[in-house]
Amino acid sequence: VLRMEEVRKSFGTSLVLRDVDLEVAPHTVTALIGASGSGKSTLLRCANLLEEVDDGAIWLDGEEITDPRADADAVRRRIGVVFQAYNLFPHLTVLQNITLAPRRVHGLSRADAEAQARELLDRLGLGAKADEYPDRLSGGQQQRTAIVRALAVRPRLLLLDEITAALDPELVGEVLNLVREVKDEGMTMVIATHEMTFAREVADQVCFLDAGVVLERGTPQEVFGAPREARTRRFLRRIV
Ligand code: ATP
Ligand code: MG
Repeated sequence: VLRMEEVRKSFGTSLVLRDVDLEVAPHTVTALIGASGSGKSTLLRCANLLEEVDDGAIWLDGEEITDPRADADAVRRRIGVVFQAYNLFPHLTVLQNITLAPRRVHGLSRADAEAQARELLDRLGLGAKADEYPDRLSGGQQQRTAIVRALAVRPRLLLLDEITAALDPELVGEVLNLVREVKDEGMTMVIATHEMTFAREVADQVCFLDAGVVLERGTPQEVFGAPREARTRRFLRRIV
C-alpha cells in the first residue's frame, strides 16, 4: 500500500529522516517506535504530504506521490490521519463531524453520508453519541470519534500519531480497542506509539527509529523479543 525509499528530510541544518525505507503491505499494521524526536511524526507527515521530502520517493498503491505532478489533495483523500490532540470541530455534532468530508470532498448527499456515518458509529460502538457535541464526550470518546471520522472517507491507509498520548490512562484502553477492531476489518495502518504492549500485540511489523534512521525492523517477536541492536535494547529497557 505504502512504500518509502531513501526518504530524507531535514529542518534547517538538522537531518530528521536519513534515508528511510519502509514497506507497508495491505491489511497490516506497522508500529513506529523510538525515543521522542527520533522522527516518527515527521515520517507520518511525509507519508501524508504534509511535509515535502528533500530526497527519496514515496508510493501509494504504486503511484509515486512525491512526483511533483502528483495531486496532493487527491493523495490526502486516500489517507486518513489522526493526531494526538483531538481535532474535532467543536461547533459540530459527532454526526456532522463525520459527514463533513464525505459530503464536501466526496460529494455524498446528506442522507447518504448520514446513513453511512450512523452505520459506522453503530458498528464501532458510538451510535448513542451521534448527536452530541464534542465537549459532551470523554477524551476517549472524542478520540474514537476522530478515528471514525478518518474512516468515513474510506481511506486506503490510516496514519495514527500518538493517539492515546493525551488521554487519561483509564481512557486509553477503549481507544486501543477501537484500533484493534479497525485492524480486524482489514484497514492498513501505520501507528506511531509509545504503547509498547499494544504495539507488540497489534503490529505485524515494528520499526525502531533512532535519530531518523530505521535502526531495526521486524515482527514484534523479533524486535521486542530478541532485539539485535544495542540501542534498541537500551530503548526498550528504559521504556517497558
Ligand atoms: P515524539 O515521540 O516526541 O512525538 P517524534 O519521533 O515524533 O517525537 P518528530 O516530531 O518527528 O519526532 O521530530 C523529529 C525531529 O524533527 C525533532 O528534533 C524535532 O525537533 C524536529 N522537527 C519536527 N518538526 C519540525 C519543524 N516543523 N521544524 C523544525 N524542526 C522540526
Ligand atoms: Mg511525534
